[in-house]
Amino acid sequence: TVVFEMTHVSKTYRMGEVTVEALKDVNLNLREGELVVLLGPSGSGKSTLLNILGGLDTPSSGKVRFRARAASRNETYDLTSASEAALTRFRRECVGFVFQFYNLIPSLTARENVALVTEIAPHPLHPKAALGLVGLEHRVDHFPAQLSGGEQQRVAIARAIAKRPQVLLCDEPTGALDYRTGKLVLQVIDRINRELGTTTAIITHNAGIAAMADRVIHMRSGEITHIDVNTQKVQPD
Ligand code: ADP
Ligand code: ADP
Repeated sequence: TVVFEMTHVSKTYRMGEVTVEALKDVNLNLREGELVVLLGPSGSGKSTLLNILGGLDTPSSGKVRFRARAASRNETYDLTSASEAALTRFRRECVGFVFQFYNLIPSLTARENVALVTEIAPHPLHPKAALGLVGLEHRVDHFPAQLSGGEQQRVAIARAIAKRPQVLLCDEPTGALDYRTGKLVLQVIDRINRELGTTTAIITHNAGIAAMADRVIHMRSGEITHIDVNTQKVQPD
């Protein structure tokens, strides 16, 4: 089943006299349960593409359709013509976001940071269960400052998946971490993809990460140059 269908998507940013074509006529389908990596140099349009998939940004032209799981209220969202209210519901219920920086609230414990999200989701995981899935059952009452960078990112992942989103979108999730810690974070994302069936897209410019993907989407100058299907997909190690 196709979850996302992007057709002829372009995005132009205007800043005064200057216009930037961040995406140029992008066509892309994402399938239920697959893990894709978006690979390309800085400025090639990866974040713009991810933000459009997540309903954080809208294309200048083209269409983006999202097929929600049958149990959801809406079968299909047309993200390009959805109302602000529908987009907010889409973001809240269907999408988990992970960014390079963890955006945890310093005055709240790990459990409380996750609970902020579960309070507004219709079918959430228990915060402790979400923290268990990322291997932090022994850190639930710790504050962000008492956790390592990798642990903070795992709390951010627990927060993202606690609403049981259909899709997990990760923008350079290991960008601020050393190699060994980053590997642990990727293992967690990989396990969530396999155990919960969460359709996952990860932005990186680290070609090594590509080995864990079902497909690697190569981008350059706002275009998808080619897509590699990974027949030898391996778990991150
Ligand atoms: P990547 O994630 O591959 O680094 P981006 O999607 O962030 O690429 O950016 C693609 C292009 O769009 C870049 O030239 C960038 O400077 C430009 N761009 C991205 N966001 C904005 C914005 N909010 N305003 C203006 N230009 C932007
Ligand atoms: P609202 O505040 O009306 O719920 P938002 O656009 O602020 O709508 O975001 C909805 C959801 O999108 C949030 O609950 C969060 O999961 C995710 N989100 C959006 N932007 C960010 C961000 N910068 N950091 C973390 N999560 C974000």
